[in-house]
Amino acid sequence: MDHFLYKDGALFAEDVPVAEIAAQVGTPFYCYSTATLERHFRLFDEALDGTEHLVCYAMKAASNQAILKTLAALGAGMDVVSGGEYARAKAAGVPGDRIVFSGVGKTRDEIREALTGGIRQFNVESEPEMAVINAVALELGVKAPITVRVNPDVDAKTHAKIATGKSENKFGIPISRARDVYAHAASLPGLEVVGIDVHIGSQLTELEPFRLAYQKVAELTEALRADGHNIKRLDLGGGLGIPYERSNSAPPLPIEYGAMIKDTLGHLGCEIEIEPGRLIAGNAGIMVSKVIYVKEGEDRQFMIIDGAMNDLIRPAMYDAHHDIIPVVEPAPGEEPARYDIVGPVCETGDTFAKGRVMSTVKADDLVAFRSAGAYGAVMASEYNTRPLIPEVLVKDDQFAVIRRRPTFDEMINRDTIPEWL
Ligand SMILES: *Cc1c(COP(=O)(O)O)cnc(C)c1O
Repeated sequence: MDHFLYKDGALFAEDVPVAEIAAQVGTPFYCYSTATLERHFRLFDEALDGTEHLVCYAMKAASNQAILKTLAALGAGMDVVSGGEYARAKAAGVPGDRIVFSGVGKTRDEIREALTGGIRQFNVESEPEMAVINAVALELGVKAPITVRVNPDVDAKTHAKIATGKSENKFGIPISRARDVYAHAASLPGLEVVGIDVHIGSQLTELEPFRLAYQKVAELTEALRADGHNIKRLDLGGGLGIPYERSNSAPPLPIEYGAMIKDTLGHLGCEIEIEPGRLIAGNAGIMVSKVIYVKEGEDRQFMIIDGAMNDLIRPAMYDAHHDIIPVVEPAPGEEPARYDIVGPVCETGDTFAKGRVMSTVKADDLVAFRSAGAYGAVMASEYNTRPLIPEVLVKDDQFAVIRRRPTFDEMINRDTIPEWL
């Protein structure tokens, strides 16, 4: 459930008419709902009720400071994957002991930054990385808390570009080598082993791959404890999918996911961490765009809008579906039309939908892309020298621009001219 609903024939974000935001901010823009963000965070938090746990929001999904502050106020931890994200989490007031650091390519500088500023744990992805974390910790005279990310070799049954738990993926160490790697970790004086980490992919629409992976983590926990390691924490990653198409069957709910976690891992007495990103932010955001032209092709109609692939790359990159709805509610019984919905960027890949059946639109009408809150604004670029589009946060009947649209001058002035020109 989200808080983008029609009321009296117009699309609202909570209690604010979307058209009113468009009139003030201009299009295109992203719009997030505070109530939806909060609701989704709480669903996860409550799903793990009765178990010691921390929900670490995977902030790569949507990392605006206002979003981070909204979630941090509810007690969220953060999963960061770069020094920049670490800095963002700290800037939003998240304490270091609620930040976990994931990713296959953490640099020395990033590791030093996190050890100095405070970190809950590094999720280590390789032995070379483990050696560097150990070295940096020794330089600083501290112990670095770590888990090792294991790759359980399970098929997440999701898009190949976002599957991370198969042996051919770059992530983690093969689970079959875990005992050797933990033995090595225990021999390094700059490290403190605190648990195990796993993350098998994103937009999973079934529980079964999670269950298979978590069963392997349960077995590994017992084996590692028998080897004398202190496994007190299990970081289970993110990945629970969202319903991008309202008409399709819905993925499992957080409460079902939480029950499965307790079922497979509850007997171990570990603190549980989870790292949901998409499910918290995805349906908490829409992208609003304006129709520029409706163009008659030979055998199709093109709806050309002012949003483009640089603003929302998911359709071009993952063949992703977004429901696209008019901001003025279609009248009941209205005859639908069929459109190829495209942006102005000079690439055929700049196509959001082909043959999409929806109500008739004309130039200057507004449309909203649902489920655009995660992996939307954060993946945007300035391709075609299109400014990064604004982000707006709604709370009840108020809204605020939480990142403004840059001017062309600001964009151009980031370039510098070498002295020979
Ligand atoms: C991307 C990522 C997540 C979040 O995945 P979602 O599908 O957005 O829930 C969590 N943990 C790690 C390590 C990731 O890379």
